[in-house]
Amino acid sequence: MIDNENMNHISDELHEECGVFGMYDFDGGDVASTIYYGLFALQHRGQESCGIAVSDTMGPKGKVLSHKGMGLVNEVFDKKALAPLKGDIGVGHVRYSTAGASTRENAQPLVLNYVKGTLALAHNGNLINALELRDELSLTGAIFQTTIDSEVIAYHIARERLHSATVEEAVGRACRKIKGAYALVVMSPRKLIGARDPYGFKPLVIGKRDNAYILASESCALDTIGASFVRDVLPGEVVTITPQGIESDTSMCLQKEQEGRCIFEYIYFARPDSQIDGVSVYESRIKAGRFLAQDSPVDADIVVGVPESGNAAAMGYAMESGIPYGTAFVKNTYVGRTFIKPQQTARENSVRVKLNALKNAVKGKRVIIIDDSIVRGTTSDQIVCMLKKAGAKEVHVRVACPPFLWPCYFGTDVPAREQLIAYNRSVEEIRQVIGADSLAYLRVERLEELVNGLSICKGCFTGKYPLEPPKEDIRGEYEK
Ligand code: SF4
Repeated sequence: MIDNENMNHISDELHEECGVFGMYDFDGGDVASTIYYGLFALQHRGQESCGIAVSDTMGPKGKVLSHKGMGLVNEVFDKKALAPLKGDIGVGHVRYSTAGASTRENAQPLVLNYVKGTLALAHNGNLINALELRDELSLTGAIFQTTIDSEVIAYHIARERLHSATVEEAVGRACRKIKGAYALVVMSPRKLIGARDPYGFKPLVIGKRDNAYILASESCALDTIGASFVRDVLPGEVVTITPQGIESDTSMCLQKEQEGRCIFEYIYFARPDSQIDGVSVYESRIKAGRFLAQDSPVDADIVVGVPESGNAAAMGYAMESGIPYGTAFVKNTYVGRTFIKPQQTARENSVRVKLNALKNAVKGKRVIIIDDSIVRGTTSDQIVCMLKKAGAKEVHVRVACPPFLWPCYFGTDVPAREQLIAYNRSVEEIRQVIGADSLAYLRVERLEELVNGLSICKGCFTGKYPLEPPKEDIRGEYEK
């Protein structure tokens, strides 16, 4: 067992920062309830706060109605909260905080009134020059209401708008100043604008339903609301949606090989029923399992996944190896909302509250267990122990990504190196810590193959990021 006394995290899971959604109905229909369902489909990307802002393109210019709060989509919104949100254009957001405190002020969308009108903005990602830009803005009199990067972006758009012919030009100019990861959805009184950073760290797709256009973090949200997939917003592209059509500005796009999609979207964050840049998230997880079976085979009686994100890779391992796929755990999906946080040391241990082993499925068997990742390693030892207690004869752990060795600066809470179990430990040492009979990770060389050769970021595994990371770790700096 590793010493967990000082661990703040009761879970070893990583978190995505946010999910964004925008909609413009050219027939004038209200969009708030559809945005609600869109956010509901993106709930896995952020569970701390959420919000919706809408406007009526035929109504008084600059009037934006919004509602946001702390909690899940179905906790923040009920019929009463949705009813006043009348408007045919709107944006929505779900949030998990990796930079900026988890408070109501930091909930999005941000609504900004300025001399040229009103903007509402929803952002997914993390900027690496936000502190610099914030200081620069503060020196010229800007007063910030929140501690999040997104406000820096909103201010820059508002400022650029003063010298730009159109709001989309202002978004493009602001995007040239900000550095890092962003998928943005911006609503102006008559336009819906989407932007993706030049590296394409975060996904953003365009959809269509009847005479309405949609922008969403993931394609699963389009399926949920019955919209069809039109295409991905390109890395570096700014798209502007108006009744006259979709305009595209690709002047920020880089060469294909310079792009750097977050590979962890495919491995863990995104829903398996989503497609990102033409690659099925489910297929990439199946492949990860197949590669593990090819590169790190072991004799066993059953292959199981750590639910839910390990399941597809476990299926891939089973298909490739011919070892039967099975279920070894029952998961309590409501555990994230327990108001008494289970302590690592308490009897009501967080892992046991969340997962229980199916004794009949594993008793007397040699079990291969596939996990999507091991971050701090605070749960892996307990999962192995749980399987052994349930009667498993051997437990072989296979991990569907390489060992985490470096932090992430682009919107994922991969922590500082010292907190990573693989930092300064060999695979054999990690195996001993978690008590497995064998342990193997996906090889770094396999990552591009998961996504059919797309250019990706794999910085948290290699220390080489698509763009220069900040000299110091400034995540959460505004709270100080
Ligand atoms: S460092 Fe890792 S988690 Fe962060 S964007 Fe790159 S691949 Fe994704």
